[in-house]
Amino acid sequence: MRRRLVNGAVAWLTGGFATGLFVAREATRAAGAEAKQMSRSVVHPDAGSSHLTLFLCGDVMTGRGIDQVLPHPGKPHLFEPYMRSVRGYVALAEEKTGPLKRPVDFAYVWGDAPAEFERVRPDVRIINLETAVTTAEDAWPGKGIHYRMHPANVPCITAAGIHCCVLANNHVLDWGYDGLRETLDVLRGAGIRVAGAGRNDAEAAAPAIIELTGKGRVVVFSFGTESAGVPRAWAAHGNRAGVNFLPDFSERSADSIARQIRAAKRPGDIVVASIHWGSNWGYEIPDEQRAFAHRLIDAAAVDVVHGHSSHHPQAIEVHRGKPILYGCGDFLNDYEGISGHESYRPDLALMYFLTFDAAGSLARLAMTPTQIRRFRVNRAPDEGARWLERMLNREGRPYSTRVDRVPDNTFLLRWR
Ligand SMILES: [Zn+2]
Repeated sequence: MRRRLVNGAVAWLTGGFATGLFVAREATRAAGAEAKQMSRSVVHPDAGSSHLTLFLCGDVMTGRGIDQVLPHPGKPHLFEPYMRSVRGYVALAEEKTGPLKRPVDFAYVWGDAPAEFERVRPDVRIINLETAVTTAEDAWPGKGIHYRMHPANVPCITAAGIHCCVLANNHVLDWGYDGLRETLDVLRGAGIRVAGAGRNDAEAAAPAIIELTGKGRVVVFSFGTESAGVPRAWAAHGNRAGVNFLPDFSERSADSIARQIRAAKRPGDIVVASIHWGSNWGYEIPDEQRAFAHRLIDAAAVDVVHGHSSHHPQAIEVHRGKPILYGCGDFLNDYEGISGHESYRPDLALMYFLTFDAAGSLARLAMTPTQIRRFRVNRAPDEGARWLERMLNREGRPYSTRVDRVPDNTFLLRWR
């Protein structure tokens, strides 16, 4: 009983609310439309057109329970109403999937991902780091959940060869301004580029730039929104530290971003607009989010919209040759002992490998299905891959996208 209460409360605190009705409705759509869709789709092979490949994924939360099993766990106390120690999350996970041999090594949490990196060899690896990296004790008042990873555990980010962490999310300031400053220092000190948070508004808004020999640059802008739980008070303003806060999805906001991007973009650059947006659960894409994504591509010369915040992957669209990942899901976290939203399969996620041609159009989008289990990223089991395939095809229908599952249990996107 107590565990049910704890689990329910924790799920609620992470922003969850069930919208299972929508799932059921979507699942009853006619299969005939799917067959029709197939015949209109075109396969976009990468042969001869590969120029640059990006790896993107959703939320990577290496704080709290994950931090606790790494070589340098931080202090375990929490300020959550139903959980007073991070060890509670480790205990819940171990109760479900068995004991962990602790400490794990830094690469452990990435599980099967490095083998995929080795196989696909993306030029740039970008994640949304959904935690502060700090020992600060200044928990943000009035916030139910506070994530932090000990700075000495930062090798777990570099162990996966991550080039860039986007930070404009609802956890980077969980441990106050000292916590934010330390997060920025530790990540930069480890050679990781950051975007979306800074010591002042100019630094928070500045893109991360990754130069690639002979392939131009990847320029990453990161934005956080209230729809994903980023408090307005976290907006960097003048000399005040904070996140690159996107106040709304208006044309005016898109056009202001367009001015900034046009000033920064050089010929041959690939521009990523990484946005923490939308609710934690559900598949419906609000019209304003879709219109905003289109405007970023049409008016701001954005090459890929990297959306995240939903605890599960969402639909994919390709607009004028530019991909929009509406929600990339949770790639790594300590939630596996928490129940309450199983119908969304938040244990499942995707590694997104986006290959662009020399003109900056999407040439190929391959995905590797994954599952969080035992605090690590695993290749998804067969049933999980099939579940994701069905979901992507169901949710992609309004956007004329679908996936083919290829024999190695990875997906290739088809689009019109
Ligand atoms: Zn978030």
